[in-house]
Amino acid sequence: MDYFSYRDSELWVEGAPLRKIAEAVGTPAFVYSSAALRDNLAAYDKAFAQVPHLVCYSVKAASSLAILALVAKGGRGADVVSGGELYRALKAGVPAGKIVYSGVGKTAGEMAEALDAGIMLFNVESEPELDLLSRVARERSKKAPVAVRVNPDVDPGTHPYVATGLRESKFGLPPDAALALCLRASQDPALEVLGVDCHIGSQLTSAAPFAAAVERLAVLVGDLSARGVKLRYLDLGGGLGINYNGESPPTPAEYAAAVIKASDGLGLTLVLEPGRSVVGNACVMLTTVLYDKNVGGGRPRFVIVDGAMSDLLRPSLYGAYHGIVPVRKTGAPEIKVSVVGPVCESGDFLARDRPLQTVVPGDLLAVGSAGAYGFSMSSNYNSRTRAAEVLVDGGAFRVVRDRESYDDLTRGEHF
Ligand SMILES: *Cc1c(COP(=O)(O)O)cnc(C)c1O
Repeated sequence: MDYFSYRDSELWVEGAPLRKIAEAVGTPAFVYSSAALRDNLAAYDKAFAQVPHLVCYSVKAASSLAILALVAKGGRGADVVSGGELYRALKAGVPAGKIVYSGVGKTAGEMAEALDAGIMLFNVESEPELDLLSRVARERSKKAPVAVRVNPDVDPGTHPYVATGLRESKFGLPPDAALALCLRASQDPALEVLGVDCHIGSQLTSAAPFAAAVERLAVLVGDLSARGVKLRYLDLGGGLGINYNGESPPTPAEYAAAVIKASDGLGLTLVLEPGRSVVGNACVMLTTVLYDKNVGGGRPRFVIVDGAMSDLLRPSLYGAYHGIVPVRKTGAPEIKVSVVGPVCESGDFLARDRPLQTVVPGDLLAVGSAGAYGFSMSSNYNSRTRAAEVLVDGGAFRVVRDRESYDDLTRGEHF
């Protein structure tokens, strides 16, 4: 948490004390550092400076307009996986010509929207999807720019839910099927085959699986070239991990060194789709202690807070670790507690059996590494209003997404 540091026992983000932000906007709140976001994006451009490349930020990691606008202002593109994400990216000012559209279940309507917008690339994941895209393009007298997603059967060594390049996963096609599909697409006047792509998983902590995947893609690129299909893009997906709890994932520079070597000589523009590594550690979720529930008798001691699985699902969904620290260090002794939310599920926890400074109701806690798949996975479960989002820039901060109201909660309902 580089941009989050203590000054005289108080936790600050950039030039702003988190306590001030909590007082102004309430909790739970997701607080993002602009400087961290900008630095994390710049790290990719710096690492890949020697080769033609485009950073297409993965919108699903954190998809609020202010974050997408920051991405767009830096000249980067976006990787979207739904019509809704396409709508957001365009609305925030990402040029259509820098948008790639991934995902196994694009509908005809979503394809039409993306074609009409004029996106850069459809990452096609199956034969029936390609057929539908061809039909939609023909109906609109358009030529669809296509890359075929390869499932390189590489083990990313990550949580099974976010391992996407294994043979049993629903994503992409085996290299031989991808080759056949590219050849077929190259004969279709409604399609333009421009690339191949992969995305083998998320939260990778080693560069080796990326390099292995790129080597498999490079073979495919060579086979296609030998058959007269010349490509423009090699889309490597996202997936670089972050430090949640002492992991030491490769830096963008180390990642770049590995994949540039594996793709050397192909002469293609590299498309990168980082999500987690851009926004994950650029944000904390602020939450307020409601109760210290200590029934004794060897039972767990619960710190009940106003943030829950409906705000930050990752601990419940993946058993994920998020560091939790007090916004003000009091010097009170650390005790082992479980930090849990108000949602009516025993699976609603933010941390289990964790040493934490002894707290009292009203104390503020900062849940770390909350930027990626945090707010974007939040829900209204238990009819909880979704949290506010705040963007900090230097000493200034502004609400970039209002906390939901009860009106928001029932919008569109009829009885
Ligand atoms: C989720 C996703 C990404 C982003 O992955 P991160 O691990 O957040 O970097 C990139 N590309 C595709 C196709 C994805 O589905």
